[in-house]
Amino acid sequence: MDNTEAINEQAQAHHVKPVTHRAEWVVVEKNNILQNGYVVVHDGFIIEIGKGSKSVDGPIIDHGNGVILPGLVNAHTHLELCALKNRVASQNGFLSWVQELLAQRSGFEPETLLQEAALGIDQLLSSGCIAAGDVSTMGITQELFARSPLLGIWFQEFLGSHPDKTLTCRKGPGQSISLAGHAPHTTSPELLTRLKTLSLKAKLRFSIHLAESIEEVEFLATGKGAWADFLSERGIDFSSWGIGRNLSPVRYADQIRLLHSGTIAVHVIRADETDFEILRKNGSSVCLCLRSNQALHGTLPDVPSMMKHNINLCLGTDSLASVDTLSMFDEMKFAAARFPEIPPVDILEMATANGARALGLDGLTGTLRPGELGSFPYLDLPAGNVKQLMESIAHASFQGPVNRIPA
Ligand SMILES: [Zn+2]
Repeated sequence: MDNTEAINEQAQAHHVKPVTHRAEWVVVEKNNILQNGYVVVHDGFIIEIGKGSKSVDGPIIDHGNGVILPGLVNAHTHLELCALKNRVASQNGFLSWVQELLAQRSGFEPETLLQEAALGIDQLLSSGCIAAGDVSTMGITQELFARSPLLGIWFQEFLGSHPDKTLTCRKGPGQSISLAGHAPHTTSPELLTRLKTLSLKAKLRFSIHLAESIEEVEFLATGKGAWADFLSERGIDFSSWGIGRNLSPVRYADQIRLLHSGTIAVHVIRADETDFEILRKNGSSVCLCLRSNQALHGTLPDVPSMMKHNINLCLGTDSLASVDTLSMFDEMKFAAARFPEIPPVDILEMATANGARALGLDGLTGTLRPGELGSFPYLDLPAGNVKQLMESIAHASFQGPVNRIPA
């Protein structure tokens, strides 16, 4: 029996009593990091946090010299594309990547896509992830996501002008089903507005890829270019979309009223200060997928400026068609290396509290405050002080083991 099994057995044997989880470090939230801390969990929820020794009527589990931290939130991924890992070349430009992705995807049986998606969920869980935003165009991962212990939102994504599936929104306590529009250069403004309206009416989130490629920028501003040709070749008529008015993607999205406090704008690479101000004013979250951006576009969004504008910034991995892993530790490490001016504690906040807020899970997870779910990772990552601890978390690309509490 290894340490994790022993701990879980103890926890299960005493499940009716509060269980105190102790570790050298407990990251409650950004400005509340406890040395020699504990988290008391009862009936699945955190009832108390504190420092030092705690005498409670119930078992105390000492996890060790590492750190208990809030579960990580991968706010944007596509589990249905896990099978495409290392199969889509990214060095020939975005348009070529999209074309290759579509061709590769159609070569797989849905069963294979699902098997690989299940392994993707395992990877999320084993790397400390508690919640995810899974975006699915094919609609095949809904059951898989629902059966997994992940919290978050499964988004049915649409593109084109006419929905080919039922528009369903279902709000649950931990897991919900909502709607996503693929992007403003692939989806008609009427359909995008309809998807956004239905999501928000159900008090859920609406997700959209926004301001990602130069092809998107050119197409929305002029109605011409490589993307216009690509759509025409695929028989998609965009003549009634009202584009070509020299608007940036963010300004266009604002004009067709897609931006809202429930909107998650994914990527936002091609944006300026005015665009950031528009996103801030609308209270939209921005989900950064930095490793994917680097692989597909060779450039990154202006993260420091977005932080100055107080935009809720969260992190996502995007799919295995553009990155090597679904680990949020790899995503944090990349962000920390590329933006050394951003304090590691802010990067961890993007991967936890901000992601939870973006998906509407704040109050349930994202921090370790009393009242939130008593489910979180423990990392065997010893540190001498808070600064070292935060640097280890953000820079270490932690490869495990991550102990899930409870397992
Ligand atoms: Zn995506």
